[in-house]
This record gives sequence, C-alpha cells and structure tokens, in this order.
Amino acid sequence: MIQMAGIVADRGRVPDQYDELVTLPGVGPYAASAYLSLHRSVRAAIVDSNVVRWIGRLLGVPTDEETRRKRWLIEAVDALTPSRSFRNYNYAVLDFAMKVCRPRPRCDVCPFARDTCVFAAQRAGRSERTLVSSASIGARDRPPARRTR
Ligand code: SF4
Repeated sequence: MIQMAGIVADRGRVPDQYDELVTLPGVGPYAASAYLSLHRSVRAAIVDSNVVRWIGRLLGVPTDEETRRKRWLIEAVDALTPSRSFRNYNYAVLDFAMKVCRPRPRCDVCPFARDTCVFAAQRAGRSERTLVSSASIGARDRPPARRTR
C-alpha cells in the first residue's frame, strides 16, 4: 500500500485505465475494476468470490478458487454488466451475491430461482435453463457442457 501510494504520488495522479491500474503493487483485477466502476464512472465488470459463486450457480458450473481467473467467467460477468447504470448494477450484484446467493442461498426470495438459475432448477428437480447462452461466453476456456433434461 505504501509502495503504491508512493508510485501514485510520483505520477501525480491515480490511473484511470485498467491496464495501468493493475501494474500498481497490490492492485488486482477486483480492486482495479471496483475503483473504475464505482469511483471513476468507467464501465467495468467486478468479480469477487461471491459473484463467482452466483454465476457458477446460474450456469450450473462448479467453481473453485481458480474460477475467477477463467476466461468464461470473466466474459459472462462482462456480458451481464450493462453499458449504462453499471455503477448501480455493480453495487446491486455485489450486494445480491453476498446477501441472497450466499453460501447457504436464499433461493426462496431470489428472482432467478424460478426461470433462470440452473442450481435452483436442479435442486427442485426441474429442467435447466441458462441466463447466459454459450454463444456469449468465450470460445476458449468455456465451462463444461451441461446436459439438459
Ligand atoms: S436461485 Fe438460489 S442459487 Fe440461484 S442465483 Fe438465486 S439464490 Fe443463488
């Protein structure tokens, strides 16, 4: 943090480009995207562990510590992030993923439970549907194909 502050002080400004931000010591993809989206009004998709869990459940794909770096996950989160009101969207998603799609999910109050979420459909014994089509997820590093009933 001190090293980063020194670099920023030397440059006389905080970077406003993602690629420059992530070169700063201690600044990773989450911090860079959160800073740009929430404080600089730059559209950026924010991925934290709660968002990874939520997207994995929506798509019916198991997730782990490495999932946040997977291209398919980053592209899915990016595809869902709107070009307008992205700041409010990101706040809402972070809040939702932490409080509703939490480790013990509140599917009973979730708007995705009925028609969208694969996890909820599987748990209820219903047929599966997806929120993000496979066509909108990157061709490389795609999650494993699912069987539909
Ligand atoms: S239905 Fe349940 S598992 Fe699916 S997104 Fe909502 S809270 Fe998460």
